[in-house]
Amino acid sequence: MTGELNMNRSCYTARPFGGAFTQKFSGIFSPVSWLSGIPILMYHEVAERDEVDELARWTQRGYILVREDFDRQMAFLAAEGFQSVSLNDLYNWSQGQASLPPKPVVITFDDGFAGNYRHAFPILQRHGFGAAFFVVTNRIDEPFMMRWSELSEMHRQGMEIESHTANHPLLSTLTKERTRDEFVGSKRMLEDKLGGATRFLSLPNGDSNPFYVPVVKAAGYLGGCGSQFGFNTPSTDHFFWRRIAVKHEIGFDGFRDLLLRRRSTMLYHAAKAAAKTAVARTLGKKTYDRLYNLVFGVQEQDKSKQQ
Ligand SMILES: [Zn+2]
Repeated sequence: MTGELNMNRSCYTARPFGGAFTQKFSGIFSPVSWLSGIPILMYHEVAERDEVDELARWTQRGYILVREDFDRQMAFLAAEGFQSVSLNDLYNWSQGQASLPPKPVVITFDDGFAGNYRHAFPILQRHGFGAAFFVVTNRIDEPFMMRWSELSEMHRQGMEIESHTANHPLLSTLTKERTRDEFVGSKRMLEDKLGGATRFLSLPNGDSNPFYVPVVKAAGYLGGCGSQFGFNTPSTDHFFWRRIAVKHEIGFDGFRDLLLRRRSTMLYHAAKAAAKTAVARTLGKKTYDRLYNLVFGVQEQDKSKQQ
């Protein structure tokens, strides 16, 4: 049962094997991006406290936020004067075609879990925030996942519903044709069901391959989110936007310190991200994935099912 979802490893690192080493780390330790870059928050699931154990069978426990904790984070953002901006706003700003409010933040959710609608959506609305929800189109309507009717309602209320592929494969396991199928198929399905254009995506597990950028550009996507830690400036590659993973264990203080850009907190996260990337490179991706699953107690996926 668990394996059927094919998404039990959540996003943890961006393109550990694509591009030059220097490219991967550029900006992570940059005080300029820390001071002026735009934060994109990456959430996965929000749940009632007594739902966490059950949900942890389907995704990493660390990526499940208790409803009250998520509410407190949103209340903090509102009290501090943060304003949510859409991916479309971020893209236009990155192209020099628009300006952003003084304290912008982009709020994103990966995977399309049911609590995104049930718990996160009303809290976002109460605080006046918009968000982008990256959904796996072939998983919609499955148990524990959002339904099409819920996505339609969120879309009508101004939320961005975007692609997290059709089946949540690791891109590094895909051919060019399969890569195209995942992004074109999910885009078409979202556009058919919800109306409007799907312009943005997030990479499953932050993983990539050499075909990804040309394929999604040709398909009409404008930008995409990876999972590597960092803030975004106009020079950040807009097909690998950096994100801040909001995991349960960072706690409220950790969340506040990141958003307030406390130097020691940023250094800690940047060093951790760099170390992860370096370890993945050294071990090789498959070994790294296996170790990661072992450590975090989630099941190894049957790669053949993802093809
Ligand atoms: Zn994912």
